[in-house]
Amino acid sequence: DKNYREYCSKICCMYALKHAHHLREKINADVYEMYIDMRCTGDGYEEFYERVSAEGVVFIKGKVAEVTDRAITEEEKGKLVVVAEDTLLGRLVRIPVDMVILCPAMIPRADAGEVARMFSITQKATGFFLERHAKLEPQVSAMDGIFLAGCCQCPKDIPDSVSHGRAAAAAALEIIDRGSVVTEAAIACVDKTLCHGCGICEDICEFRAAKVILKGGRMISTVNEALCKGCGVCAVACPSGAMSIKHFTRDELSTMVKALAPVENG
Ligand code: SF4
Ligand code: SF4
Repeated sequence: DKNYREYCSKICCMYALKHAHHLREKINADVYEMYIDMRCTGDGYEEFYERVSAEGVVFIKGKVAEVTDRAITEEEKGKLVVVAEDTLLGRLVRIPVDMVILCPAMIPRADAGEVARMFSITQKATGFFLERHAKLEPQVSAMDGIFLAGCCQCPKDIPDSVSHGRAAAAAALEIIDRGSVVTEAAIACVDKTLCHGCGICEDICEFRAAKVILKGGRMISTVNEALCKGCGVCAVACPSGAMSIKHFTRDELSTMVKALAPVENG
């Protein structure tokens, strides 16, 4: 329901069908399923929907308006009454039942924001963690060395979670097996003679690459080359000009600008 969650939670239709199937199979209960849209995307899922339908589960396309215990007929007395609009028949229905099972959307954990801050990874608008590339690297976060496995990235069913987890484990093993990391060519570097350890670069670096440490009796910034992405934010923010990006120092940029500037007087 877009009024509550804008994204498709992907698994709700299928777990609702699974519950319905079990209730029919185990205790032969009458089962009614209210739905807005039935999405059965997966190998054998549509067939499962048809099987559950053939088992006698009643599907009603329409939103539930309310669940009430106010009976208006003899049959409704002592029951919960589900009031809904059957949009295919175009009429209001009242169904007396013993039990109502809600099938809510999967949502991120309450502490997802805290985890994201701890590992410097990004959350999507939905609150799930953002992958580096939705199609090619869904198991990798934007932060080197931090991998995503399962429903922290988006709602997934069990087969998708297993595949995603295996992909994350393989990506981590690849780094361990290689025994080294390939760093960016243009990364930040500190001129120790100019740095006065103010910590602005550490505060501003999204990748936690810059860190001020005590060295030689004074505070000074250092850059973790494996984490630095060479974004240049620290170099712009550094008040003393101590931070620069390799191959893009002030002198190098100045030389490039001069080379590009029109030559005066022929
Ligand atoms: S912002 Fe500049 S001066 Fe301040 S700690 Fe970082 S490198 Fe040093
Ligand atoms: S260049 Fe970017 S990633 Fe590297 S230390 Fe500076 S702010 Fe951090």
